[in-house]
Amino acid sequence: MSILTVTAVNAQQKLNPEIEKKIDILMSKMTVEEKVGQMNQYNGFWDVTGPAPVGGTAEQKYENIKKALVGSMLTVRGVKEVKAVQKIAVEQTRLGIPLIIGFDVIHGYKTISPIPLAEAASWDLEAIEKSASTAASEAAASGINWTFGPMMDISRDARWGRVMEGAGEDPFLGSKIAVARIKGFQGDNSFQSPLKIAASAKHFAGYGFVVAGLEYNVAEIGQNTLYNQVLPPFKAAVDQGLKTVMTSFNTLNGIPASADQYLLREILKNKWGFSGFVISDWASIREMIPWGFSKDESAAAKSAVEAGTDMDMEGGIYLPYLIDLVKQGKVDQKYVDDAVRRILRVKYELGLFDDPYRFLDEKREKEIVGSKANNDAVLGMAKKSIVLLKNEKNLLPLKKSGQKILLLGSLASSKNSPLGSWRIAADNNTAVSVLEGMKSYKNNTLNFVEGPKLTHEEPTFLAEVHYNTTDKSGLEEAKNAAKNADVVVMVLGEHGFSSGEARSRTNIDLPGLQEEFLKEIYSVNPNVVLVLNNGRPLTINWASENIPAIVEAWHLGTQAGNAVAQVLYGDYNPSGKLPMTFPRNVGQIPMYYNDYATGRFTDKDGNVFWSHYSDAEKTPLYPFGFGLSYTTFEYSDLKINKKSFAKGESAKVSVTLKNTGKYEGKEVVQLYIHDEFASVVRPVKELKAFQLITLKPGESKSVEFNLTEMELGFYNNNGDFVVEPGSFKIMVGGSSETELTEEFELL
Ligand code: BGC
Repeated sequence: MSILTVTAVNAQQKLNPEIEKKIDILMSKMTVEEKVGQMNQYNGFWDVTGPAPVGGTAEQKYENIKKALVGSMLTVRGVKEVKAVQKIAVEQTRLGIPLIIGFDVIHGYKTISPIPLAEAASWDLEAIEKSASTAASEAAASGINWTFGPMMDISRDARWGRVMEGAGEDPFLGSKIAVARIKGFQGDNSFQSPLKIAASAKHFAGYGFVVAGLEYNVAEIGQNTLYNQVLPPFKAAVDQGLKTVMTSFNTLNGIPASADQYLLREILKNKWGFSGFVISDWASIREMIPWGFSKDESAAAKSAVEAGTDMDMEGGIYLPYLIDLVKQGKVDQKYVDDAVRRILRVKYELGLFDDPYRFLDEKREKEIVGSKANNDAVLGMAKKSIVLLKNEKNLLPLKKSGQKILLLGSLASSKNSPLGSWRIAADNNTAVSVLEGMKSYKNNTLNFVEGPKLTHEEPTFLAEVHYNTTDKSGLEEAKNAAKNADVVVMVLGEHGFSSGEARSRTNIDLPGLQEEFLKEIYSVNPNVVLVLNNGRPLTINWASENIPAIVEAWHLGTQAGNAVAQVLYGDYNPSGKLPMTFPRNVGQIPMYYNDYATGRFTDKDGNVFWSHYSDAEKTPLYPFGFGLSYTTFEYSDLKINKKSFAKGESAKVSVTLKNTGKYEGKEVVQLYIHDEFASVVRPVKELKAFQLITLKPGESKSVEFNLTEMELGFYNNNGDFVVEPGSFKIMVGGSSETELTEEFELL
């Protein structure tokens, strides 16, 4: 079988014979230049998300569109702008092939939803799908056809700034969320609606495992981790009918991802039957030269196209080199043909050939972008994303009247930071701040004091964030105000631009003067509610030990302040659960709940020769899956209806959940398994199912899960999914540190 044959086995990636026929006809008319042109993507003329573009000036880019040497543009946006470039491609080129317009719709378009990591904390797949759908509708109404998302890099390393873009550390949750987001973006994959856009699974692959959390670094990943941790969300995305995949910047086991035949051809295109196209990351083909993999541009072009990277994002490599390489017989034309066929296929599927202007309606743009409905949607998502980490002394919820509340911290009044990183289409300072959100509760006495400034200058997307470590002015004023308050709400953490791409940190404490600020305030008034704003897990040991109430509020987007206020005042009972482990210190990283027993896991005899650290606890500060509510839940009566069952059969697991507190609340009931003996050692726990259950005070419910062999198998080191008989444990509870356990045999 040819390596260029799509061997689609899953229904969602099935080819449409009519479209294939049209592609045959079109390709028979295309010159090599026009074909390579389809594989060339230029950045628009203003937003730069990487090192300076090599594509040339705006005029040169326009000229190349006219010559049919451009297949796609990124970050051109707005109906007027998109129409201008699309018109050139459609009306001024020989064959009139439309451009496909890409954009980083990462968490909302103009109306910004919570950062993806925060959304993952909701564990609410319906809400996440709706959020992606809202984003898709705004982007599509603005002329965009395709998003560079969702990011589905599993990561166990909070030093890596891009964990904010993903769904956290777990491949099961990550796969479910990847599918929900693709459904939100692509709908039913028919693209009948002009409000759906193609998705791109990124970054393929291993980017979340960059060594030491250092951006753009190498990833060295064994087969076990590659197949069981890194690849599952991508596989699930392909099975969902995903249209495009983006390669990653890292090398995987020594091979730059954009030249990785094993990943792109063998696994993605052949084994999984992916029929869409692969785009490089920003100039990642060109970056194979400084990596020391390709000796020059021409060699980079050859390796990338042969490996299966179909489109060159702003690298300026395919266009100038690939045409000659093909003409000189140095690159087999079949690789170019395969790439072009895939790109045209997606353009046909999106309906761009039927009507290249179908996304371009100014009236629709005005109605949809920034609408009230979209603001309501992101507010709903933001509330669901909040995680209550601690709540002692009944500090929360705050009282709606009769309480003197002091709000502190630069982040509390910021209208920019809550938008987080990757919000290119949003205008600066358009978020509702926590201060504004809290002010809408009128019956309380609210006083705001900034305290020491968070940063020296206003942070921007393209510059390093410099935290204030020296200037303590404002501290005394804040302390004096704290003395007179009933409750002090402090909004502390990372500025929205301190996580995201190129924002690796070696220290994930509260940056700058903030911990000192927190301690000083606590010393005069211990009734502190800490509201965290951050794009990654932070090490907040002192706060966790001393501060009575801690609310994880991430970067929640346009409606952040309203969401935080509604949670603080108890109009919304928080139900989020952490999608990533919070370590005690960076030395524990990589830290993740689904780790391994080792031969010496449990210290039975106070022996020093067991798997532990001498200078710190081995446990996390907050485990994966953890999150409190204003109410309390009790789990009991875990049962499995069969003590043994055969492959092909299924079993029912049930547990009783009771709301034992005073508020109605929602709980994420989590089911983990442990395969006790296997041909490849299995993690101590693996999430395999979860359900969101809402209960009134005093109410209880039996929650049921269906267990099949799909939940019990794993990928062996050849990448084959295997289900091995033997004994299994199940654990059910409200976090990965569950206590209820049952056992059964798979025969
Ligand atoms: C990022 C991608 C992004 C691209 C286009 C790159 O720097 O790694 O995730 O889609 O830029 O903005």
